[in-house]
Amino acid sequence: TQSIAFLGLGAMGWRMAAHLPKAFSDVRVWNRTFSKAEAHALQFGTQASSIENAVQADIIFSCLPTSAEVEALIATYPPKAGSIWVDCTSGEPTSAQRVSAKLAENNVHFLDAPVSGQTIGAEKGILTVMVGGDVVALERARSAIEPFAGLIEHVGGSGAGFAVKAVNNMLLAVNLWSVAEGFSALKAHGVNLESALTCINASSGRSLASENTFPQRVLNREFPLTFALNLLAKDTGIAIDLAHSAKLPSPLLALTQSLYRAASNSLPEDSDFSAVVKLLESWTGQVLE
Ligand code: NDP
Repeated sequence: TQSIAFLGLGAMGWRMAAHLPKAFSDVRVWNRTFSKAEAHALQFGTQASSIENAVQADIIFSCLPTSAEVEALIATYPPKAGSIWVDCTSGEPTSAQRVSAKLAENNVHFLDAPVSGQTIGAEKGILTVMVGGDVVALERARSAIEPFAGLIEHVGGSGAGFAVKAVNNMLLAVNLWSVAEGFSALKAHGVNLESALTCINASSGRSLASENTFPQRVLNREFPLTFALNLLAKDTGIAIDLAHSAKLPSPLLALTQSLYRAASNSLPEDSDFSAVVKLLESWTGQVLE
């Protein structure tokens, strides 16, 4: 039977790893702040493990802020030959290609397997997993991914999963900012925002930003921190790099990346992605409530 390890028990990893003991008996969890790994073991029946022991597992998951942290970990604690490293970080395609080539020298497969569905999707075990890398390695790892997935899609070679994830999050960013501008105009004209949302969510302008983010995070002024603004700003940066490296004009994406970078640099460190709206509000004077 396969041994599984999960590295990084943050907002996503904590919930994703919680599903693994349903399907596997040897589930090792590691977190930089180790008390989180111990708490996870107590709550979900996983094993809090040293990093040295975790990287001896057959399948190793990681879910860290950026590719830089993943690369640093792999360089210091290389996985055992024959294992598969499944990186669920929203990372950089070029990093995936670099790491995957390096690990292949030691017969280790690296899959970039970022996820979408927010913390609620992780909790329910219904994440969308977009996978780049070797198809045969994915088939070997599939049963370990399934416990937290609603959809597992192979999207191409190494880095393709990270690329799809970055574009997905860029679309979320575009949608959210555009809803905020549209609703500022409606507010300035005295329109009831709840009624406007009801209409738009039954119409062609709807998106996750209008259906979920606006009512559940913005209009109620809660901005609950489940997905940090600095992580979304990182994702829009990866998306614009994809366009730039292919020499494509992408005016809307470039503008959006700049807006999220500005918001991330100027709002408090612990802001949720939905707080990007506050940057616009500071310009318009229209508070969206
Ligand atoms: P969190 O900030 O909640 O968690 C980050 C995790 O990384 C923590 O376990 C943290 O450990 C660990 N970590 C940070 N720096 C290091 C380091 N230098 N070395 C080792 N471990 C480190 O992030 P999320 O769980 O929200 O996000 C993780 C990834 O998933 C990101 O790439 C994000 O973009 C992506 N994502 C997030 C979603 C969300 O809704 N939150 C949805 C989909 C994807 P410690 O506890 O010690 O701080």
